[in-house]
Amino acid sequence: MSTVLHETTTAAASTGSTRKRLREGAFGHARALACRECGHEVELGPSYACPECFGPLEVAYDFPTVTREEIAAGPANIWRYKALLPVPSDIEQSPNTEPGFTRLLQAHNLGRELGIDTLWVKDDSTNPTNSFKDRVVACALSAARELDAKVFACPSTGNLANAVAAAGARAGMKTVVFIPSNLEKPKQVNSAVYTDHLVAVDGNYDDVNKLASEIAGEEEGWAFVNVNVRPFYAEGSKTLGYEIAEQLGWRLPDQVVIPVASGSQLTKVDKAFRELVALGLVEDKPYKVFGAQATGCSPVSVAYKAGTDAIRPVKPDTIAKSLAIGNPADGIYVLDICRRSGGAVEDISDDEVRDGILLLARTEGIFTETAGGTTVGVLKKLVETGQLDPTLETVVINTGMGLKTLDAVADRVGPAATIAPSYDAFVASGVL
Ligand SMILES: *Cc1c(COP(=O)(O)O)cnc(C)c1O
Ligand SMILES: [Zn+2]
Repeated sequence: MSTVLHETTTAAASTGSTRKRLREGAFGHARALACRECGHEVELGPSYACPECFGPLEVAYDFPTVTREEIAAGPANIWRYKALLPVPSDIEQSPNTEPGFTRLLQAHNLGRELGIDTLWVKDDSTNPTNSFKDRVVACALSAARELDAKVFACPSTGNLANAVAAAGARAGMKTVVFIPSNLEKPKQVNSAVYTDHLVAVDGNYDDVNKLASEIAGEEEGWAFVNVNVRPFYAEGSKTLGYEIAEQLGWRLPDQVVIPVASGSQLTKVDKAFRELVALGLVEDKPYKVFGAQATGCSPVSVAYKAGTDAIRPVKPDTIAKSLAIGNPADGIYVLDICRRSGGAVEDISDDEVRDGILLLARTEGIFTETAGGTTVGVLKKLVETGQLDPTLETVVINTGMGLKTLDAVADRVGPAATIAPSYDAFVASGVL
């Protein structure tokens, strides 16, 4: 279950293919793609499912020794961690959007409001296209380049389309992005400004995703960031975990709350923490991982609460469109990580999502999109239901930007008064 791009070195040699060979170090210290289920390893290339058991493939490495000093001396973007990513050592030479190293803010006001002693917000809304997706797309773009792809593409719930379209433009690659036709207008415009090849599909994300897999199977030379180069793409989310640890002074937090769409980000933040421990960059300690979903698309939370591993796909119906994946590929791994670590998966209503957006805005001056409203709202619910320990150091991840989902709160806020331009009118308005 792979191909479309050219074969990897050995395969190319064995078939006598004249296609471009992988260059030395194309994927940095990555060794192979390893099956998450059975451990079977295949060569690095455009493969995403295990040929033995159809389990998902994940990048495996032979890491070199890496020091905190080497990382700190790197650029203020995700490439400071390039030794831990499947990218070449000269990655900074290739045009990319250079995402990452976003701020980690101590959230005193939100913490006080929720009764949490030490709370941090990892604010990924300041990435180049205003969501955490720029991280994963930067890694996918590197893989697409090394594999000599002709087209850079994705099926998207919105933010991914923005990130792929921007990165593709900067890289000078032909870029095609597929979105559900009912997507928020700002997210459509945010993609269309970068590319003429925005395709709106009449269907939900899962339909768009299926179409992408079909095209990937039919067409040559397409790199679908979250389909056939998904293992490389997914590694980009590790940088969120690396940054949180580095910005805490090379420590792991006690608890972290992460939104769940496909579940990739949550599993990779956990992988990042474990890698940092294995590399001796942080001290080993227990930490709890919590997943956040909107009730209108909460297949992982439903399975968590039912105490089962069986995730039943749903038809999404929520304003949290960037989390609206009804059949989450990494859902079972999210369940495993949250259960094993002593965390939980929780969901909230669309009204609570709106409340979450306003809560973060009014306590910390951060305008998040519906995904962040979901995460903050779930954080609140986790405290109220006693699932999250408010005495432990907690990080909540804000993955996106409120300007992309204005409609979610547009009728909740607005001018307190509309007045004539006079002092008397202002006093009479009673605004203060
Ligand atoms: C894609 C996305 C997520 C979730 O990503 P997964 O890795 O698929 O779980 C969270 N927040 C925002 C804003 C996103 O765009
Ligand atoms: Zn396998």
